[in-house]
Amino acid sequence: MIYLDHAATTPLDKRVLEAMTPYFCEQFGNASSQHSLGRTAANAVTEARDFIARTVGCHADEIYFTSGGTEADNWALRGIYAATKGHIVLSAIEHPAMINCAKQLQKEGANLTLVFPDKSGVVSAQSIEAAMRPDTVFVGVMSANNETGVLQPVKQIAALCAQRGVFFYSDCVQSAGVLPFDIENVGGIGFSAHKFYGPKGVGVLYLKRGTPIGRLIIGGMQERGMRGGTTPVANIVGCAKALELAVTDREMKERYVALVRNRFEEKIFASLKGVTVNGTAPRLPAHSNLCFEGCEGEQILMLADMLGIAISTGSACAAGAVTPSHVLTAMGLSEEQSRSSVRFSFGKDNTLYQAEQAAGIIIKIVNKIRG
Ligand code: PLP
Repeated sequence: MIYLDHAATTPLDKRVLEAMTPYFCEQFGNASSQHSLGRTAANAVTEARDFIARTVGCHADEIYFTSGGTEADNWALRGIYAATKGHIVLSAIEHPAMINCAKQLQKEGANLTLVFPDKSGVVSAQSIEAAMRPDTVFVGVMSANNETGVLQPVKQIAALCAQRGVFFYSDCVQSAGVLPFDIENVGGIGFSAHKFYGPKGVGVLYLKRGTPIGRLIIGGMQERGMRGGTTPVANIVGCAKALELAVTDREMKERYVALVRNRFEEKIFASLKGVTVNGTAPRLPAHSNLCFEGCEGEQILMLADMLGIAISTGSACAAGAVTPSHVLTAMGLSEEQSRSSVRFSFGKDNTLYQAEQAAGIIIKIVNKIRG
C-alpha cells in the first residue's frame, strides 16, 4: 500500500508507542491519585505539558489537553462565544470542526460572517478586516487548509485582531509539527497528535491567559477544573513525544516531503493534460490537491484503492458525503471541478520511488476513465 493520505491521519511512530507503553500497564495510575503511582502519572503529564508549552512558546498553564482538534476548535469557539455573545468571523474554508460548530451557534442566535478565499485559496487579511464589526469578538482562520494545504496570512490577521482587541484563534491541526508555532497576537490555537505520528484521541488547545471562556466538561479538577475526566496519561505522553520527534530536523523533513510531492506532480503534469492544482498559493509540503478534468474523484479514489494507493477526495471527515467540498467551491471551483478533485498528501516515510509509482498508476487510471 502506498499511503498518500497523511492529511487525514498518520501512522503512530514506534518511538511514540514505546514512550506511551509504560503508562498503559506498569504505570497505570490515575494522575489525580495521591499515591506514588498517581504521582508518577501526574509527573509524566506535567513533563508533557511543559514540553508542549515550550515548543508552542507559551506558559504551561495555557495548555489544555483535549480529545483532538475538533474538541479544541469547538471549545475555543463555543466557549468564547458563550462568554462574550458577540459577532463571529470565520474563513469559509475552515474545517467542519469550526464551520459546523459556528453554524450551530448561528441557530442558537449568534451572528456569523464567513469570509471567502480568492482563487488561489488564500483568505486575505483585508477581507477579514472588511468583515469585522464593532461587536466582533472572535476571528478564526486556520494556519493552513486541510484540503489544499494553502497557507493563510495568519500573522497579519493576528496583528489586525490585536489592534482591535479581538480574540484571534487559529486551527493549526495541519501545520503543527510541520511549521514553527507563532503565537504572537494569537489568543488560541488547536492541534491534534494523530496528524504528526502521534496517537488518535488527544489534542491540544492553547489559550492565552485571561481569555474569557467557560469550562468544557464539568467534573473533577482535571485540566485546572476546565475539562473534567480522568487524564489520558499515555495519550498525553504520546502527544508530547510525537511533537518532539516532529520538530526535530523539522526543516529537513519539510524539504524532503516537498521533494517527494513535487516529483509526483511533475510526473503527472508531464503525462496528463487537463490537470490543475487546486490552491496555487504557497502551501504545506505534503499537500497536492489536483483537479482531473473529465473524471470523478470518487472513481479515481476507488480504482487507486484497488491498486494499492490510499488517497482522499475532499477532507476525510467529509468523505462519503455527496456534497462537493466546501473549500474548493469557496475558492470558485464549479461543483463539477470540485467532484473531479483528489487530495494526495505525502509523509516523511514516502519515497521518491513511491511518488513515481503512484503517479504512474494515477496516470493509467485517469487515461482509463477518460477512455
Ligand atoms: N481541523 C483541521 C484543519 C483538520 O484537518 C482536522 C482533521 O482532519 C480537524 C480540525 C479535526 O481534528 P481531529 O481529527 O483531531 O478531531
